[in-house]
Amino acid sequence: MKSVNPFPFSDDNKRYHTWNYYLRHRFGKKIAKVPLDGGFTCPNRDGTRGYGGCTFCTSSGSGEFAGDRTEPLLDQYIKGQAVMRHKWPDADFIPYFQAYTNTYGPLSKIQACVKPFLDRPEVAAIAIATRADCLEPEKIAWLASCCASKEIWLELGVQSVHDATAQMINRGHSYAEVVETVQRLALTPLKICVHLIDGLPGEDEEMMLETVRQINLLPIHAVKLHMLHLMQDTQLAYSYAEQPFPLLSREEYVGLVVRQLELLRTEIIIQRLTGDGASDALIAPQWTQKKTIVLNEIDKLMAREKTWQGKRAAHG
Ligand code: SF4
Repeated sequence: MKSVNPFPFSDDNKRYHTWNYYLRHRFGKKIAKVPLDGGFTCPNRDGTRGYGGCTFCTSSGSGEFAGDRTEPLLDQYIKGQAVMRHKWPDADFIPYFQAYTNTYGPLSKIQACVKPFLDRPEVAAIAIATRADCLEPEKIAWLASCCASKEIWLELGVQSVHDATAQMINRGHSYAEVVETVQRLALTPLKICVHLIDGLPGEDEEMMLETVRQINLLPIHAVKLHMLHLMQDTQLAYSYAEQPFPLLSREEYVGLVVRQLELLRTEIIIQRLTGDGASDALIAPQWTQKKTIVLNEIDKLMAREKTWQGKRAAHG
């Protein structure tokens, strides 16, 4: 007998709440993200919180696919938009401030970056990657005021809820700071997306499941999840060369992600289940480059196990 997908968001034939499903239903059309580099730095690099950055982070501030920071933002955006329009002629866009920490700096700099996009008719929403320790009240208040014009997403790098891991990867902030910031953001119309990494050194499966259990209890709207990428010229790559640590196989990652999806409330949008690492700088795991295979394997395992996002989720 054919198994029936019990998941409420089943019209894209997935057993989890996909980002595409959300965008299609929210905006009624294809929406493409255009990654930008707003010329920010990061408190974890300039000495405010730490030096050297998170051990997995590349010299481009994990913004490999963002525009060229030496070019004006609107030029970056127009170029990125042209590439996307080639693929999706009728798409609207989300300018995505991706590289480094895009709320680190004076409010006036953030305003100069965001304001040009607030009135553009083809901009559906704006996404801003940042850290929990770089969202002071006046920045939250101004960004929240922008929600009158556009949907604003704040993408918070969290990676793990375990402070021992955060210290090991030189994250430069605690999980308590994440919780406190998310609670302040939840009082506004801002949308919150949390970034998590599976396979960080020192973490076993139970720790990674616990991260998702804790994140599930926060008043967030979306999650991005991906496997740790070992990228060239990062602190993590140097430590791995000296003392290798186990990296998850594709099968292990797929199994883990399915368990994690079961722990997330169905309302939480899954913005991503695979990561983006520039292929010429990726040391390992090489299987992460075949994103379609990973996503298909997740779908197949969920169907085989007749499971779905939220099946084992706690409701806070
Ligand atoms: S991952 Fe983000 S917070 Fe960490 S060093 Fe890179 S830019 Fe800074």
